[in-house]
Amino acid sequence: MSELREAGPAAADLAAGHLSSVAAGPVWRPVADADRSWLTGQPLPAAGRPLAELLEDVRERVLPYPMGNGHPRFFGWVNSPPSPAGVLVAPLAAALNPSCAGGEHAGVLLERTAVRWLAELVGFPHRPGAGLLTSGASMATVIALATARQRALRAQGHDVRETGLYGHGPLALYLSAEGHSCLRKAAELLGLGTRHLRTVPVDAAFRMDTGALRRLIAADLAAGVRPFLVAASAGTVNTGAVDPLAEIAGIAAEHGLWFHVDGAYGALGVLGEGAGPRYAGLERADSLALDPHKWLGVPVDAGCVLFRDPAGPRDAFSLVPPYLRDDAADALGWFSEYGPEQTRPFRALRVWATLSHLGREGVTRLVRHTSRLARTLAGMVEDAGDFELLAPAVTSVVAFRHLPAGRAPGAADALNEAIPAAVQRRGRAFLTGTRLSGTAALRACVLHPETTEADLGVLLDEIRAAAREFGA
Ligand SMILES: *Cc1c(COP(=O)(O)O)cnc(C)c1O
Repeated sequence: MSELREAGPAAADLAAGHLSSVAAGPVWRPVADADRSWLTGQPLPAAGRPLAELLEDVRERVLPYPMGNGHPRFFGWVNSPPSPAGVLVAPLAAALNPSCAGGEHAGVLLERTAVRWLAELVGFPHRPGAGLLTSGASMATVIALATARQRALRAQGHDVRETGLYGHGPLALYLSAEGHSCLRKAAELLGLGTRHLRTVPVDAAFRMDTGALRRLIAADLAAGVRPFLVAASAGTVNTGAVDPLAEIAGIAAEHGLWFHVDGAYGALGVLGEGAGPRYAGLERADSLALDPHKWLGVPVDAGCVLFRDPAGPRDAFSLVPPYLRDDAADALGWFSEYGPEQTRPFRALRVWATLSHLGREGVTRLVRHTSRLARTLAGMVEDAGDFELLAPAVTSVVAFRHLPAGRAPGAADALNEAIPAAVQRRGRAFLTGTRLSGTAALRACVLHPETTEADLGVLLDEIRAAAREFGA
């Protein structure tokens, strides 16, 4: 281990040096040909090499090519910079290297706290055992939907774990048109079938249209299809919209549906200034997916799924029969009884460290700072004659498009589709695009605690400059 003791400080130095200089460099840059062939094509070495030499490669060939999300002018997708506390403890989690499947050790015990803290942070009622850390919201959604499927079919005397879906009529699930693709992936994976997936239209603010939801449920009931789950969004990826959660919770309760909330990105938005009422109903969810690796900045990977009732996921996943469970020794059992993963990483150390470092106040400050910047950007877009705001900025996402003077209105889509890659290539800012009601849109998601108002001005100027590349 003396080699590690020697090289360790150099690695820590590289990490800290990278993070403190990242803002001075390009947000993103294309990979040089020589480095690309090294990154993808290097042969497996026959003989090993000293640790210190590996760090040289990391310095020369890896660190120069980040995805960009450490930079304050990265506005793409939903990818935050890593929290310093998370970076600090990540090697320590690796040094301990436990499997957090279960057992009596710090990794498992600290995960109980991390999960409870996340629930408390967003105001979700917590019962011990009612949640676990996951690789991300995609896995959180699989676990939630599997649990919902198990409950729905059990209520009809059908054990899906034993018989699968054979011999059972379809279950319908309701997703917003702005819902994340991971919901569809989970539905496909669980054999629910996209044919039974209902896409609920959204209103002008891109929130689920609850009248349409009611009509779709009624149509299924009339056709003999059993409605079983509705998935609402607390912060969509496209516009950050928060669905009318309380109303959807009411509809779910009325029809005995499982109420799932996708708060992967936006659940933390409940801490925004005056945002509480918009999130009313979140606490009524049967399951809530939220990603500490999004707004909170926990280094990837760190997702989380919370449940109202801890018995649900255990019933859907545990292979330990109830008569073998030693409730006296450990009433909650193993985390591996609550989801598909067996060997599980020590994600809790990064989540715990990030929350300990920031505290509730620090997280609130982060959410408010980034949300305020998003509202500022939305205002700048509205005030500028050459931009159009496409959705209200309610969390920290701004959806808009560029409409430079003197161009045919019909060309707006092609231009806005081309802008993100051109902005990225220029290297001074990074944003991505999407489609909103069929229109090509630009979207900027603000997640970096060090982003400033000046950075927003650079972003708009870079978009203008990128558009000029296409001949304004
Ligand atoms: C990121 C995201 C997901 C998917 O989560 P992963 O962590 O990428 O698996 C789902 N829903 C929303 C709203 C997201 O932002």
